[in-house]
Amino acid sequence: MKRFVYADNAATTPVSREVIEAMAPVFSEQWGNPSSLHAKGREAKELLDGARERIAKVFSCSANEIYFTSCGSESDNWAIRGAVKRLAKKGRNHIVTSAIEHPAVLNTCRDLEKEGYPVTYVGVDSDGIVKMDELEAAITDKTAVVAIMFANNEVGTIQPIEEIGKLAHAKGALMFTDAVQAIGNIDIDLSKLPVDMLALSGHKIHAPKGIGMLYIKKGVVIDNLISGGGQERRKRAGTENLPYIVGLAKALEVASAKIPELDRVVKMRDRLIEGLEKVPFSKLNGHRTQRLAGNVNIGFEFIEGESMLLWLDISGICASTGSACSSASLEASHVLLAMGVPHEKAHGSVRLSITHETTEEDIDYILETLPPIIEKLRNMSPLWEEIVKGNQN
Ligand code: PLP
Repeated sequence: MKRFVYADNAATTPVSREVIEAMAPVFSEQWGNPSSLHAKGREAKELLDGARERIAKVFSCSANEIYFTSCGSESDNWAIRGAVKRLAKKGRNHIVTSAIEHPAVLNTCRDLEKEGYPVTYVGVDSDGIVKMDELEAAITDKTAVVAIMFANNEVGTIQPIEEIGKLAHAKGALMFTDAVQAIGNIDIDLSKLPVDMLALSGHKIHAPKGIGMLYIKKGVVIDNLISGGGQERRKRAGTENLPYIVGLAKALEVASAKIPELDRVVKMRDRLIEGLEKVPFSKLNGHRTQRLAGNVNIGFEFIEGESMLLWLDISGICASTGSACSSASLEASHVLLAMGVPHEKAHGSVRLSITHETTEEDIDYILETLPPIIEKLRNMSPLWEEIVKGNQN
């Protein structure tokens, strides 16, 4: 029987009931501007400070190390541009990043390259882990910032951020990590992690789209991205989106409290991987264990990923071929290509991203539905026909 299965949580998640309930009074009652000096403003300022304190507790950092932004992309832009522009004045104008970053990081680096800032794009191994020897060699005394994502949005590979941070610091560079996909998956203790800046976004953890955050360690000074009023301690102008900030605080508290329950998600993920690996000519993309609890990314040879997605959609399953941001293009994933997956195999990959909300019945349904879709598509492929004929000869 047809079901509806949402398996695209890496693209976005629904706003949870507890987040909606936390935000509702901030829209209807506590709607003041935190910068206003009157009672309504003071009430809003108290909420803003409270949200910052609660988030600081989640990450074991200080409240004044937290800056609210409009999204993960803004946080990525601010961290990299702000750091390199500030440090260039002291002779450090070089950026080190990886070939598998999200477009919010990659395109920021490409733009900065055009402005004259040199960038080194470090490669990854076949599991999608940054090549540490290449990374170490890339960081010099001219490097301003090392920008490496905590976990990849397409293949879910988790990077050794502690080790990378130590390498960056050993050469006097700042360490920035895009943790948009890692939040709610990995317990992040910023009092211990050698990270100077960390970006996150609300909509991957059941807060609304359009709210993000940048952690900037005390003592680290970067240039501003947005000019204007004195909000966020004069570092990020724009009237604070208070309802969403309160929603983000709630979502982060809930997501971090649920980290110990991820075992159940990991079991479902592995059942899905094992089931899909039974399909002939299939291959898991990304590291088998060092991967996000909810990420499944599998390549099927002799298949067009987009056709597979359409058939999944018709069957009520929401999935993706890569990141939501690049799904409008038919180009092969830059992440898979960087991992050495050949073009034609990269085209036949599907990403299924599950969460605590996913049920065992959802997994059963995907396992019942996807293999016949692949068989149907392969039977329509002239290449597949040749393979089958070849096997019969
Ligand atoms: N970084 C990563 C790893 C992401 O997965 C995303 C969103 O897909 C972003 C950054 C951008 O976040 P936002 O959509 O809030 O701009």
